[in-house]
Amino acid sequence: MALDATEHSMHDRLKAQQSQMLLRVGEMVSMPTGYGNKSGLLSLREFLAVRLRNLGATIELIDADARPEWIESTSGPDARMPILVAHRTQGRTGPRMLLCGHLDTVHDPKGTFQRMEPRSDGAVVGPGVVDMKGGLEVLVCALEMLEAHGERVAWTVVLVSDEESGSFGSAAALTKLAATHDRAFVVEPATASGDLVVARAGSGQFMLQAFGRAAHAGRDFAKGISAVTALAKAVVDASALVDIPRGRLVNIGPLQGGVATNIVPDAARAWGNFRFANDAEGRELGLALDALAYGSESDVPRLRLCKNANRPAKPCTDQVKALGLRAQIVATDLGLSVGLASTGGVSDANLIQQAGPPTLDGLGVRGGNLHRNDEFMWPDSLPERASLLAILLRRESRLSTE
Ligand SMILES: [Zn+2]
Repeated sequence: MALDATEHSMHDRLKAQQSQMLLRVGEMVSMPTGYGNKSGLLSLREFLAVRLRNLGATIELIDADARPEWIESTSGPDARMPILVAHRTQGRTGPRMLLCGHLDTVHDPKGTFQRMEPRSDGAVVGPGVVDMKGGLEVLVCALEMLEAHGERVAWTVVLVSDEESGSFGSAAALTKLAATHDRAFVVEPATASGDLVVARAGSGQFMLQAFGRAAHAGRDFAKGISAVTALAKAVVDASALVDIPRGRLVNIGPLQGGVATNIVPDAARAWGNFRFANDAEGRELGLALDALAYGSESDVPRLRLCKNANRPAKPCTDQVKALGLRAQIVATDLGLSVGLASTGGVSDANLIQQAGPPTLDGLGVRGGNLHRNDEFMWPDSLPERASLLAILLRRESRLSTE
């Protein structure tokens, strides 16, 4: 299959827009959206809402849920910003496409890494350039190009503000939206070589909380029961659940316990993250973590475990594989070589796919050093990925809803 006249036109126009696309990414980067920074998140949301409204979309804001209290201290600030949903489905037939992105980054809005700047090899460096302000530009430009060519694709865009801290606030909204769509596309960064992401491991958060009895460490040591010692044992037991060949990972930290060296500590906590290759493994690992808890309300020592498997595994189902193969055909038609990858990293694609539609991820820009102070993006991947997404959406819209 080769590009038809409309696809050629979309591709040519996008290529001609590279410098404007890059300028807009720079503008988005200048709105700091890390650490739950409300003013930056609001500016960026409005910047994108204006463009989506111009495409005829109806904008809806959905309140985010509160996240579990015990998560607070480890997953960064809770932005709790309403979720933006832009609908362009009314009067349109064919498969309903859900496009998903996140506004937040992991970068400190008051830190030294603030602006987008060119690198000597042609890349640009900046906070969130690849994860995922470049991807947001790709998403909007692909839709602008479809609308400009009169393509009546039925699409919905959802933009969340808390993906980097686990999407606890937006999970319910994402799940509900996903259930009413036929395909989903997520603009997380491509892999380093430009591959799309078809499968992701699952992930969850947990907290181990130990209770003991305080006592003076010298005068009454024997009356004390150390929560730190109880916690330490549980940390070792939890770490023993790691099975790398099976894709079972348990990472523990930070830890907290005790108030002074001369007091037997009566409270201690540790937070952790667990990862699993598939949901059956996830359930098994979850039960093994649950089994670390012991003691009833009045017992000391006592160990409590709180956990939340907030990212179910995202397997490469037959439908996902087929969608990925069709995307690869588009890439080939564009003269690109794009593979289909699996990764241990998680995203909103995990939640969306579990709720129904086959989901293709990694449709964002190429770059690297995500979450670091030298995060970079290749500017030529902006029109490249926008063409890929626009043409893929156009071709998918002509297929059945299956
Ligand atoms: Zn991301």
